[in-house]
Amino acid sequence: MYCDNKGALSAAFGWKHPNPRWASYDLVSLIRYHLSQSPIKWKAQHIRGHQDRHTKYENLDIIAQGNVDADRYAAIEMEANRSVDQRVIIGEPWELRQNGKRIVGDIEKRIRNTIHEREMKEYWRKKFSITAEQQDQVHWEVFKKVNRMNEDWVQTWMAKYNSRIGGVRKNMHRRKHATDDKCPCCEEREDTDHLLQCKNKDIQEVYDEKLREIKEWMEKHTSEEMIKGVEAVIEAFRNGTDLNLEGCHDNMVKAAARQQFELGQRAFVGGWWSRRWSTLQNIYYREQGKKNKASIWVARLISQIQDMIRNMWFERNSQLHNKEQSQHNERMNQNLNTRITKIYERLNKATPTKRVLNDDERYYFSRNENEIKRRRIRSKHRWVKEAEDIIEILEIKLKRNNSITNYLTYAAKEYG
Ligand SMILES: [Zn+2]
Repeated sequence: MYCDNKGALSAAFGWKHPNPRWASYDLVSLIRYHLSQSPIKWKAQHIRGHQDRHTKYENLDIIAQGNVDADRYAAIEMEANRSVDQRVIIGEPWELRQNGKRIVGDIEKRIRNTIHEREMKEYWRKKFSITAEQQDQVHWEVFKKVNRMNEDWVQTWMAKYNSRIGGVRKNMHRRKHATDDKCPCCEEREDTDHLLQCKNKDIQEVYDEKLREIKEWMEKHTSEEMIKGVEAVIEAFRNGTDLNLEGCHDNMVKAAARQQFELGQRAFVGGWWSRRWSTLQNIYYREQGKKNKASIWVARLISQIQDMIRNMWFERNSQLHNKEQSQHNERMNQNLNTRITKIYERLNKATPTKRVLNDDERYYFSRNENEIKRRRIRSKHRWVKEAEDIIEILEIKLKRNNSITNYLTYAAKEYG
């Protein structure tokens, strides 16, 4: 059996027992069943896909041609949008349905989601401060799509963001992990809502850049009026202002934007969007003669807005890191300066004329206090550590009641 997907091959031929958590559990089970029933002994063989990209179909060997054919058939089948054949295939694993639809893929996850869906809705409704009446305006399937679309770490990040328990200063301060709740970029109080609203210059840059990307994407996939509507909502939440729909002339788009604005910033970023958006996008697709799914468009748009916020957060983190680093350096610098002052005090006390210093020591203290203090932190640090040792030895040397033997053993130890 030839296949251009190594993962699929090892799922079908490997030693691991198929698990309902696998993405194509039903298909893998079916293939394995038939492999085991077949009188032929099958062997797995990986083959590079899409070889016709570099070589003419006619010049490929029969196996590579077969791979190209299979790709073409799959594309045709997908275009055909055929309804799924309901007949039972021998060897299929048991089948589970929900609302009349067959559950394929990660069955365990789906069961868990189905059981907890009502609770989940209620949880997010409260987090997004939405009334039960407003909830009916929201496209729940889109929200679920966005989550499924995101990688695991992004899902976790968004869940924390939406639950308002992420590492913003307000939370860190409350947990006593920070001394204040000020935004590291602009000194305003930093709660979760502030992430989208921070007016720091570099964060503004990230915002502008990402918004431009989102608009470019929208230009390819929706109408001009839709872009205006969506942008008006983003800008209003970013700037904490009222919705400004002056440039927008489509009344339906205006109505969608207004409803979205009423749902609030948290729902907007979290992915609780008005159903009106997908209705409008559906109209756009039909006018264009396209069969695309409007809900996927909305989910992609939300996902990009969330990505924008995460990028603003990353910029904020790097600023926080620099700030902490410079505060740390400042503290360290002050500490070293104090030690330098102390070293020179001890030096002057021990030998006001510097006559008793040997050549090495004299060389070491040939620069004055302020010159040393002006040095860069690393070289300053090295100097201080050594100078403190030298001074200590010098003091011992000069203490009249200390025997010369003491000094020699000490000096031998220190200077090697
Ligand atoms: Zn800020």
